Amino acid sequence: MNDAMQNYPLHARSPASACALSVVVPCFNEEQVLPAFHARLLATLRSLGESWEILYIDDGSSDGTPDLLLQMQELEPAVGVARFSRNFGKEIALTAGLRLARGASVVLIDADLQHPPEEIPAMLRAMRDGADVVNMRRASRADESPTKRFFARRFYSLINRMSEVPIRDGIGDFRLFSRPAVDALNQLDERCRFMKGLFAWIGFRETTLLYHTAPRAAGHTKWRYRQLWHFALEGLTSFSVLPLKLASYAGLACALAAFLYAVVFAVSTLLMGEPVKGFPTLIISILLLGGLQLMATGILGEYLGRLFIETKRRPLYLLEAYRPAIVPATELALRRQS
Ligand code: UDP
Ligand code: MG
Repeated sequence: MNDAMQNYPLHARSPASACALSVVVPCFNEEQVLPAFHARLLATLRSLGESWEILYIDDGSSDGTPDLLLQMQELEPAVGVARFSRNFGKEIALTAGLRLARGASVVLIDADLQHPPEEIPAMLRAMRDGADVVNMRRASRADESPTKRFFARRFYSLINRMSEVPIRDGIGDFRLFSRPAVDALNQLDERCRFMKGLFAWIGFRETTLLYHTAPRAAGHTKWRYRQLWHFALEGLTSFSVLPLKLASYAGLACALAAFLYAVVFAVSTLLMGEPVKGFPTLIISILLLGGLQLMATGILGEYLGRLFIETKRRPLYLLEAYRPAIVPATELALRRQS
C-alpha cells in the first residue's frame, strides 16, 4: 500500500452495526410537531421487521423539545437523544447524526413531517436492490412561493455549471445511506459544510425515488431569505473555485478593453485632432474599475474567510448530553447469527 492510500483509506473501518437501520432526526424547536412525527415514525419502524434506532439531534432547542425527547426515550429505549450545547444549524446536526448512528444503514429525515416516514420501507427496498444511496426527490415544488422557486432554479442551474459534482434540484436531505456511504461521509470533516454537495461528492451507486412533500405539519420553517443566501454562497464557494477565475477573466477583459480604447482614442486624436472631452468616460471607467476591483476582493474574501474558519479546526459541534439508544440485545444476537 503506498503512502497516499495509507493517508486516505477508502473508508474508515466501523464497528459492527448495532442495528439494521438508524433514523437521524435533527430537531430545532419542534415541540408542536414532534409527538405526531414520532408516532408516525414508530408505527412505520415497528412494521419493518428489522432492528432499528431513532437518533434525535436536539440542535439547541429553547422550547419543550428536550423534555419531549426524554419522555419519548423513556417510553421507547430504541430512541437515542443527543443535545447540542447551542444551535449549530441543521447541516451540523445531520453530521452529528451520521457520526453517532450505529446502523447498517442510516436515513436522514426532517421532524416537521414534510418527509413522510412511511416512505422508509420503499427506501430500504431500493437499497436491497443494490443502491448505496437512496435519494428522495420532491415530485414538485408547488408548496413553495414563486419567488423561492425562481431563486432555487437559478441557484441550481448556476451551481451545476460551476461545480465538479452534479447537485440536483428537488433532492434535499431526505436520503438513505448504506454503511460504506456513511463511513465515507464521516471522513469529510470540513467546517464549511454544504451537505448536498458532500452527498454528491462521495459518489457510490445511487438511485432516486419520488415523494410528495407535505406542508409543514406545525411550527414554522427556520429558513429565512438571508439564510438561504448564505447557504447558496456556501454551496458555490465549497464546490467551485470558478468565481476566483472569473475575477481574473474580468480583469483581463477590462485591461484589453482599456488598451483598445486607448488605441482608438490616440488614433482619433492624431488623425482628426479631436479635442479632449473625457469627463463621462473618466468617471464611468473609474467607477466600473473600482466596482470590479471591490467585487474581486469580495470574492477573494469569501474564500479567505472560509479558509480562516477551516484552519482553526474547531470541533464541528459540542454535545451537552448524549443518551444513546438501547437496541435490544436479542435482535443484535439474531443479526449476528444471520
Ligand atoms: N433544524 C435544525 N437546526 C436548525 C434549523 C432546522 O435541526 O437550525 C431542523 C428542523 O427542526 C427540521 C429540519 O431541520 O427537523 C428542517 O427544518 P425546516 O423545516 O425549518 O426547514 P425547511 O423544511 O423549511 O427547509
Ligand atoms: Mg421543513
